[in-house]
Amino acid sequence: MQVIPVPCLSDNYAYLVVQGRIAAVVDPSEADPVLRAIEEHGLKLTEIWLTHHHWDHVGGIEPLVEECPVAAVRGSRYDAKHERIPSQTDALSDGDSFDFEGATVDIVEIPGHTLGAIAFITEGNLFSGDTLFIAGCGRVFEGTMGMMAQSLTKLRSLPADTKVWCGHEYTINNLRFARTIEPGNAEITRAFEEAMATREAKRFTVPGRLARELATNPFLRFDHPDVAAGRDPVASFTAIRRAKDNF
Ligand SMILES: [Zn+2]
Repeated sequence: MQVIPVPCLSDNYAYLVVQGRIAAVVDPSEADPVLRAIEEHGLKLTEIWLTHHHWDHVGGIEPLVEECPVAAVRGSRYDAKHERIPSQTDALSDGDSFDFEGATVDIVEIPGHTLGAIAFITEGNLFSGDTLFIAGCGRVFEGTMGMMAQSLTKLRSLPADTKVWCGHEYTINNLRFARTIEPGNAEITRAFEEAMATREAKRFTVPGRLARELATNPFLRFDHPDVAAGRDPVASFTAIRRAKDNF
């Protein structure tokens, strides 16, 4: 399996998940960059996977369905019920899995950013949408802070070598914020310096590695004694998320 990031809009990532010459695309904000990548790599697009319904993740679905032999548009049961993913064919729930060209893809529900948010997990790759970013997490729009903390707790229990492919390139700003939460955390400083060099070289900071996220991401470390400082876990998470909203 190969994963090809496709930058879209100003800072979104769509991803091509490739098995042989067959591709699925995750969160196509827009169609044109995805179509160019498919052409460039000589692929055939047969599936579209959506982590949630926001316009900057689903905007490319309709033109892609018109242009390509797409057989499945997969999103959550919640988003299907609310008819907010265009052309959705498959409704997925927590614990579901499906086969993609011989690879098993597992679904985890991760509500908080939206109530229909799901992650796709396959062969050590996590597509986390706007729930888990490199060194950050998404804003809590539809769920509660407790729900978002619980969803991130689910994701951090995946194997430490899991590759994290997230919905936006927010890494540098997220690490700037992370430093304010844990000024003494040397791993955050190291991650920041690497991310700066990566972006200066016009490369992507994805994929992240879960092991490093566990050591640097304040939204996975909200209940660590150094971060929580005596607060209960949800109070700690809430305080960090509110501080980030105003950062
Ligand atoms: Zn979103």
